[in-house]
Amino acid sequence: MEALSVPRPEWMTEELGMLEEQTRRFLSHEMVPHIETWHEQGMMDRSAWNKLGEAGLLLAGIPEEYGGAGGTFAHETVINREFALAGMDQIGAPLHSGIVAPYILNYGTEEQKKKWLPKLASGELVGAIAMSEPGAGSDLQAVRTTAVKSGNGYVLNGSKTFITNGQHANLIIVVAKTDPSQGAKGTSLIVVETDETPGFRRGRKLKKLGMDWADTSELFFEEAKVPAEALLGTEEGQGFFQLMRDLPQERLIVATSAIGMIERALRLTIDYVKDRKAFGKAIVEYQNTQFELAECKTEATIGRVFHDHCVAQHLKRELDTATASMAKYWLSDLQNKVVDRCLQLFGGYGFMDEYPISRMYRDARVQRIYAGTNEIMKVVIARTL
Ligand SMILES: Cc1cc2nc3c(=O)[nH]c(=O)nc-3n(C[C@H](O)[C@H](O)[C@H](O)COP(=O)(O)OP(=O)(O)OC[C@H]3O[C@@H](n4cnc5c(N)ncnc54)[C@H](O)[C@@H]3O)c2cc1C
Repeated sequence: MEALSVPRPEWMTEELGMLEEQTRRFLSHEMVPHIETWHEQGMMDRSAWNKLGEAGLLLAGIPEEYGGAGGTFAHETVINREFALAGMDQIGAPLHSGIVAPYILNYGTEEQKKKWLPKLASGELVGAIAMSEPGAGSDLQAVRTTAVKSGNGYVLNGSKTFITNGQHANLIIVVAKTDPSQGAKGTSLIVVETDETPGFRRGRKLKKLGMDWADTSELFFEEAKVPAEALLGTEEGQGFFQLMRDLPQERLIVATSAIGMIERALRLTIDYVKDRKAFGKAIVEYQNTQFELAECKTEATIGRVFHDHCVAQHLKRELDTATASMAKYWLSDLQNKVVDRCLQLFGGYGFMDEYPISRMYRDARVQRIYAGTNEIMKVVIARTL
């Protein structure tokens, strides 16, 4: 049962309703039964990527001529919400399909699109985007990784950290300076096919506060040689512009995950408080429980309507970066608040790892940090004042 009674947005067509159903069924049969194992081993199985590809759940918004499912960002949104509702917020697929693939679609040459997109759609290639470095996160102009022209190609040197899909990825878009004497204008995106790149090395899969099975790693480039065609597009120095143009979508993807997790937390908690008894009656019968959940449901409804509005704007290509930043910051903050309040209603069980609400509490924290911290979101919003 849906936790919120929000009218379906106009962009939610009958076809998307079917996709929602299919995704829900696929995840519950093929993915959710493995979550416990992935949690224990600290990583999703590599084969899950191929299964997602076979089910058509990778690159849903990419044209069919490049191997995608020929949908729009609405298709991606429906799938991403299902990941969150199923408790799979840790999966790197939204980044693979909604961030990595669009960079190639939007800025790649015809040859690059034909070479990489079909393999990303099938799961043969797993994508990652490597921006952050030990010394450069929010301030990406401080990136120190270099890609220097050498013969008929580039030589990469530098290190990246916190990279989602870092262990599984075999196609990594690396933010590097092709002209270190310049700031933003000297930055380019270099597509590294790791299987064919000597000098590329994966570091540790990092241990984290939450998102235990999410694949987050360090990457190293030591005289790593790539061909000239690894430059995304045809012109050096376009990297920053390319990154900036795609930011609204990246922020919206986090917002979708946030609202999905809020809905999941509410659903789990409502079920729990109806069942659990104290002092001879169900917890839900106490007015405090009712008021807590009434407030959470109200804010979640506001959040869902704003989220759906942002998706509608984005589908019309009218979502500006400031509004997308509002969605990312406000919904990820709300996710943390709602999950915390829900956890309280579970009592001690809310603190136990085997109860999903406990993992959701830990997982929620990073949503305020990655894809641009919530402080950076406010910096962006404040520019419009
Ligand atoms: C689980 C996880 C997955 C990630 N996945 C990826 C990935 O796939 N690819 C990738 O490239 N990166 C990834 N990141 C990195 C993430 O995007 C960065 O951690 C984030 O951008 C913040 O950068 P930082 O950690 O260097 O913090 P810093 O930039 O050092 O910020 C530290 C603090 O200072 C604040 N601050 C910084 N600048 C300002 C300012 N101008 N005004 C006000 N406050 C400011 C920040 O808000 C923050 O509170 C991931 C991170 C995590 C934790």
